[in-house]
Parts: sequence; C-alpha cells; structure tokens
Amino acid sequence: QVQSNGGGAIASLSKSSHESLNRKIMIEKQLMKALDRKDLQVVYQPQVDLNTNRIVSVEAFVRWQDEVLGVVSPEELIPVAEESGLIQDIGAFMLEQSCQQAAAWAKLGYDLKVSINSSVREFRNPNMVKTVMETLDKSKCKANKLKIEITEKFALEAEAEQSITKQMNQLKKLGIEFVLDDFGTGYASFRYMQLLPITEVKIDQTYIQSLTGQVKVKQLVDGMIQFGKSMNMRMLAEGVETEEQYDMLKGMGCDVIQGYLISKPMLAEELEKLLITHNK
Ligand code: C2E
Ligand code: MG
Ligand code: MG
Ligand code: MG
Repeated sequence: QVQSNGGGAIASLSKSSHESLNRKIMIEKQLMKALDRKDLQVVYQPQVDLNTNRIVSVEAFVRWQDEVLGVVSPEELIPVAEESGLIQDIGAFMLEQSCQQAAAWAKLGYDLKVSINSSVREFRNPNMVKTVMETLDKSKCKANKLKIEITEKFALEAEAEQSITKQMNQLKKLGIEFVLDDFGTGYASFRYMQLLPITEVKIDQTYIQSLTGQVKVKQLVDGMIQFGKSMNMRMLAEGVETEEQYDMLKGMGCDVIQGYLISKPMLAEELEKLLITHNK
C-alpha cells in the first residue's frame, strides 16, 4: 500500500523551510566549533555623554565570520543561539572578553564602562551570578565597569520569574548596572522601570530615526526623556546618525548618545585611537 503522506515532518516541509532548517542546523554546528576555539570577535561602539561630549562607555556586540558560512549577522545568529541554548556560551564569551577589555582599559587610564547584551536564557541558569562574579574576579574587572542590557521581552519574562529578578538584584548589589534596551518597542515599558533594578534606559533607534521628521515622535521622545529623568534614570538614545538628531536630543536633556554619527562598532585597538582624538 502506498503511503501518500509518509516520511514524517521533514518531508512535509516546503522547500524553503527545509532550506532554512538546514541553515539553522549548519549555524549551530559551526557555532559550536567557533565557541570551542573562541573564534568570535567583539566590537565596541562608543557612548558619548552629551554634557561633556566625552566617550564614557561602550556597548559590546558579537561578530562572527565562519569559514563555511561567511559572516553571520547577530540578527540571524542570536535567535538560533537562543533556541539551541548556545546563547549561554556566547554570553559567557562576551562577558569574559568585555571584562578583560574593561580591565585593560582601566589599566591604561581610560575610565570606560562596558555594556553587554544579555538574553533571558542566561538568567535561567542558576549559576549566572556565580559565573559573573568569577569572571570579574579572574579578569580583575571592577563590577561598576559593567552594564548588562536587557530587552523588554526579557523584562516581561523576568517579571514572571522571581529567580531572574533575584539574580538581577544580586548583581546590582555588586555594583553592576542594568539597562533597558530597545525602549518603546515592547509592552508596558514603564512597569519595568519600577519593578526591576534598572538605572539606564535606551530609547530605541526607530524613534531616533524619525525624530526630525515627525512632530509626534519628537514629542514622544521628549516625554520619554522627561519621564525617565524624573525616575532618576540615565537616558540614552541609540542609532544617532545626524547632527540634527544630536542637537535635538541634547536640547531635550538626553544624557548619552550612541550611533554612527560618533562611530560604528569597532575593534578595541581602533576604539583606543578614537579615544585619544575624541577624549583629548
Ligand atoms: P541592540 O543591542 O539594540 O544593538 C543595536 C544595533 O544597531 C547593533 O546591531 C548596532 O551595530 C546597530 N547600530 C548602532 N548604531 C547604529 C546607527 O547609528 N544606525 C543604525 N542603523 N544601526 C546602528 P548589531 O550589532 O547587528 O546587533 C543587533 C542586535 O543583536 C542587538 O540589538 C542585540 O539585540 C543583538 N546582539 C548583538 N550582539 C549581541 C550579543 O553579544 N549578545 C546578545 N544576547 N545579543 C546581541
Ligand atoms: Mg543593546
Ligand atoms: Mg537597542
Ligand atoms: Mg535592537
């Protein structure tokens, strides 16, 4: 007897979803190898204080160029890593690199904080606090040099899981700061400013990009900044690309900006060159 729909789930996938499944499997396989060899890079993007116009901190981003797959962007890499659990290893790698770099900069006399992106899955690991403490210790990095960015999606889940909030509070006690990333893109953003130990809020780049075109966006961003400041938050704008945006944000009292106007994310050595010319 002929079975018309035999062959299981894989066979019933369309050609394109079959290809994307293969790609995911390939990414996972290659990523595992890359993590083993620590063959990923970290780039840092400066964050500029609008009061002093000095670079006061940097955000660390993962970069990966695989020998078979070529460059895999974070947009593709991070979701696959989150699904497979490899995000824990990426997180550990980024933490280690960032702490070593922050300590090296402190030794050179640069007073720079490093902000790292985190995934909620990392905080589901009950050893998260211990790992962070050990990494800080090993790299001789001070806890107050580290900022951890969480997204609104993270915040939403953290609210429902006490163990996550608890770990965040433990890290905050050590001196680590928490940043609410992509502010304004998720749900009920304001709740988390009250519930979680957050000290910095990053207005999402989609708002910044339409800041100079739409009056309503301008009013909204102005409102976010005034509100955040009344909550004693440091307000940061990401994706700043033009002088016009810079001036407008400065006028609104925004504290810190980050974006291509200052610089794209770059390797640590390049950043040091920029520091010399920018922070002179
Ligand atoms: P994000 O944390 O919101 O980072 C902002 C993204 O915008 C970065 O893209 C950055 O390179 C880019 N960007 C910075 N300035 C500008 C600008 O002026 N204009 C424009 N158009 N873009 C700008 P990237 O590096 O591709 O990262 C994308 C996202 O992937 C990040 O969003 C973050 O959510 C995630 N990600 C990146 N690295 C890591 C990591 O090490 N761990 C985790 N968990 N997530 C990461
Ligand atoms: Mg970020
Ligand atoms: Mg962001
Ligand atoms: Mg983003």
